[in-house]
Amino acid sequence: MAADDPPLLLFDIDGTLMRKSGPHHREVLVEATRSVTGLLTTTEQIPVQGMLDRDIIAWMLRDAGASASRIKTAMPEIVEKAQRLYTRRCPDLRSKVCPGVRMALHRMTRRSIRKGLVTGNLTRIGWKKVDRAGIGHHFVFGAFAQEGHNRAALVRIAIARARSNGWITRHSPIALFGDHENDILAA
Ligand SMILES: [Mg+2]
Repeated sequence: MAADDPPLLLFDIDGTLMRKSGPHHREVLVEATRSVTGLLTTTEQIPVQGMLDRDIIAWMLRDAGASASRIKTAMPEIVEKAQRLYTRRCPDLRSKVCPGVRMALHRMTRRSIRKGLVTGNLTRIGWKKVDRAGIGHHFVFGAFAQEGHNRAALVRIAIARARSNGWITRHSPIALFGDHENDILAA
């Protein structure tokens, strides 16, 4: 790696930077869905790991009998409501940071290595989570659930964003850290 080709490190949140961050995230998806559509849903049957929040919401609604058009119509409002609820309710998550993560991030930041989030979380949920975990200040940007249809699309967005900000060159090494097969596929 040449000195003028700065690296870019991209991180998934759940299961990678932190784990067992509590039921609040799932709860706000269910509650926002009920508040917007009146439908009672659950995330219990859904393998949420590695999924994007919008896909989780769509799955919940499908299981509750909603049509594709109803899901599409309701989605923007559900997404907005879920984020509003989560930012109000997110607990202190400092004890949920995975072992070694805090020190690793600290060292990278000290070496001015640019880091971003690539996560299936909705934007304000993702930022709130890392902020309440006390690690948000390490990340300069992110790509979040609303911005693409899968993780590979989110990675592309993150890289394009870093490039347009002049943070990386075409020769910069880029790495994606994740805990799920979907992260590997995206990488
Ligand atoms: Mg994950």
